[in-house]
Amino acid sequence: MGCVFCEIIQGRRPAHFVYRGERVVAFLDRYPLYRGHTLVVPVQHYRDITDTPDDVLAEMISLAKRIAIALMKALDAPGVRILANNGAAAGQVIFHVHIHVIPYGVEKTWRRPLEPEEGEKLARMIRDALPGD
Ligand SMILES: [Zn+2]
Repeated sequence: MGCVFCEIIQGRRPAHFVYRGERVVAFLDRYPLYRGHTLVVPVQHYRDITDTPDDVLAEMISLAKRIAIALMKALDAPGVRILANNGAAAGQVIFHVHIHVIPYGVEKTWRRPLEPEEGEKLARMIRDALPGD
């Protein structure tokens, strides 16, 4: 069965990338709760945090922190929520582990699909504000 995030990482499905590393990437959520809602995803497929190696998780949380800083700077967000849903009962929808980085105090977008132009602009703003490793 196909995995949407694997398809995005392999370039077979479009997404607005904020960061591309060898082992972790970040792209904008297609159905953002708030403007700038970003997902941190490992390149390799793992189901949820329970089967993800610790070193990969460490890279994911480190990137989530950098994205949080970028969101606060680029979007003037006073707060950022970082969370992972693990298992359908906890609201996981895509079964390729990911961390949500959601800015607060910015426009609420109610899961309205991200417009391509808006996504491109947002991704550029966040990339430009991303601090170094
Ligand atoms: Zn996958």
